[in-house]
Amino acid sequence: MEIIDTSLIAPCGMNCSICMAYLRDKNKCSGCRGADVNKAVTRAKCKIKNCVFFQIGEARYCFECEQFPCDNLKHLDKRYRTKYNMSMVENLENIKNFGIITFLGNENKKWTCSECGGTICVHKGYCYSCGKKK
Ligand SMILES: [Zn+2]
Repeated sequence: MEIIDTSLIAPCGMNCSICMAYLRDKNKCSGCRGADVNKAVTRAKCKIKNCVFFQIGEARYCFECEQFPCDNLKHLDKRYRTKYNMSMVENLENIKNFGIITFLGNENKKWTCSECGGTICVHKGYCYSCGKKK
């Protein structure tokens, strides 16, 4: 996979570059920090990215908030841990403790297909380019 841009890491810790909506060719989503074009209403209206905390200051991630992890984030985190074996809260802890650059490097290793170098989709659980399972 290509080097991930920091703008592809959502405020909640989601890595948008491994998301189905970002990887697909048709109606491609530009990521949570991108424009709302091609986004499902539920995504555009995401309670986390639209949280007032991000509108008042210069915060980039949820861990900067004193309510971290709030109920909205915990809810999302639980859903992803259960369905996709991935944790937003864990991602955020890693960004907080080791910095965004280290996190991006680790993400890159974690989600690059060993077969073709493509990207493994977190939602599908296999490589978006060749279909190899994670
Ligand atoms: Zn592959």
